Amino acid sequence: MSYDTNNIFAKILRGEIPCDKVYEDDFALAFNDITPQAPVHVLVIPKGEYISFDDFTTKASAEDIAGFYRAVQQVAEQLGLQADGYRILSNIGRNAHQEVMHYHLHIAAGCDLGGMIKGGLV
Ligand code: 5GP
Repeated sequence: MSYDTNNIFAKILRGEIPCDKVYEDDFALAFNDITPQAPVHVLVIPKGEYISFDDFTTKASAEDIAGFYRAVQQVAEQLGLQADGYRILSNIGRNAHQEVMHYHLHIAAGCDLGGMIKGGLV
């Protein structure tokens, strides 16, 4: 699968459609999810063209990978999430129901987030 430059997050990065921005630096953009599933639900995306976690971690430079994950931490710090805790997750591919084919991390917080996987095996 090749990167689709018309995916919704690519359009947000190019400023073609708006987002509710939370944080931005040279490596990442963070914005509120349009359909929040927790009181805090922020998406963090790298600025480069990567489809998924796999694509990002195999193709991005060490500098870009470090910069991206530091940006994720900056978002958590800026939002004051450390005290009560938060969850980071990323959906990769079909079984995980990845909808948008630009790599992104979800940051969820602001309530008890429950077990890791709804209807999980344990
Ligand atoms: P995925 O299932 O790919 O991990 O999650 C994609 C996320 O992107 C979903 O939580 C969805 O609500 C969010 N999303 C989809 N389109 C938009 C949009 O146009 N703006 C924002 N802010 N979030 C979006």
